[in-house]
Amino acid sequence: MTGMLRPVGSRVPVPHPGTNLQLPWAENYHTWCMGSGTQALSSAVLLAITRSSRRPSTPEVILPAYGCPDLVAAVVAQGARPVLVDLLPDYPFMDPEKLSNSLSAATVAVIAAGFLGVPEQLSSLAGICRDHGVWLIEDSAQCFPPDCARDPIADCAVLSFGRGKPINLMGGGALLVRRDHGPATSDLLSGLPEIQLDVDWKWKARRQLFNFLLGRFGYGLLRRVPFLGLGSTVYKPLVRLCRLKLPAGLLEAGISEAKNRASISPEYTRKLGFLRQRRWTLFMEQDIAPQAEGRVTLRYGVLAPNQHVRDRAINALNQKGIGANAFYERALPEIEGLKGIVPGSASDYPNAASFANRLLTLPSHEDVTSQDVSLIASVISEWAS
Ligand SMILES: *Cc1c(COP(=O)(O)O)cnc(C)c1O
Repeated sequence: MTGMLRPVGSRVPVPHPGTNLQLPWAENYHTWCMGSGTQALSSAVLLAITRSSRRPSTPEVILPAYGCPDLVAAVVAQGARPVLVDLLPDYPFMDPEKLSNSLSAATVAVIAAGFLGVPEQLSSLAGICRDHGVWLIEDSAQCFPPDCARDPIADCAVLSFGRGKPINLMGGGALLVRRDHGPATSDLLSGLPEIQLDVDWKWKARRQLFNFLLGRFGYGLLRRVPFLGLGSTVYKPLVRLCRLKLPAGLLEAGISEAKNRASISPEYTRKLGFLRQRRWTLFMEQDIAPQAEGRVTLRYGVLAPNQHVRDRAINALNQKGIGANAFYERALPEIEGLKGIVPGSASDYPNAASFANRLLTLPSHEDVTSQDVSLIASVISEWAS
């Protein structure tokens, strides 16, 4: 089989100059475009450190024990220490009680990372942050729109425009700073160097190639190139921060395309419902109205009863040309390059480790059809227990 339905990723748009789109968070947040989502997140950490009244010698930042290793890079780049918190059992959310126990006099911020399109439980985390005078940073790299557009509860929010994110501009990100944090933060951020993104012939050629590689044929070819290490998770340190000047209408084009994307996740919840009787967990089923809120589901995630069943299901799906995978595969302490940078080992975060071992992600982008979901359901049903 040559073709493969890609695991994730949407097509790169062309700018729509002249579109007069108000960013959905504009009333409450100022937007700074940055070189990447990681750079935007690191800038948020920098602001939290600078604005903290505590001035600890080594500031601490709290993040989930399962998630994107870029979170660690963003924290470490600011000379801060990452502190990990375990998840709630069978959910991609931090355990609020364990979070409270992890706060110290050196804590300056909590990073609340949305997962696969579902935001963290920001209101319960905001209460804890408020009580302790630390910043709440919403990492919305995997979610669009960010939850702060609905409720301006986070001090900062972060977007990513990288490939495999809800809005794919082949790179870049944004830092949203709540307006009450005002001029002190602006001075700091406007001091960062700025690079300009030009939509020239090279950019357009790259876009064509990218979009071709998203198709079933293109992705099937791409997968056969082993040195690309497609989908493997490794730690990359962050070296510098810069601002990014986007051409007029590019972000707007990405947003309007994302808003018009139909959501396949209700269909997954319906057709995979039988898995509940076979000890699988459909942790995204409560997220019943992503479409009503105009939210993008980045991938549809389910938890197998154990790692063995999960791995067999991935294999069987891949054989049928479905780009299912295990996503990060491991809790942060076990990710290549993170030993000694984050505290503890996977056994200190049992829920995160179990989530990592059992997670199976299924494609939910604009090219997934009803027939694909039916095929996926029948393949998993053969391997489900
Ligand atoms: C991808 C991602 C980032 C980093 O974004 P880049 O634009 O790739 O630097 C940060 N946080 C989360 C949760 C992500 O998924």
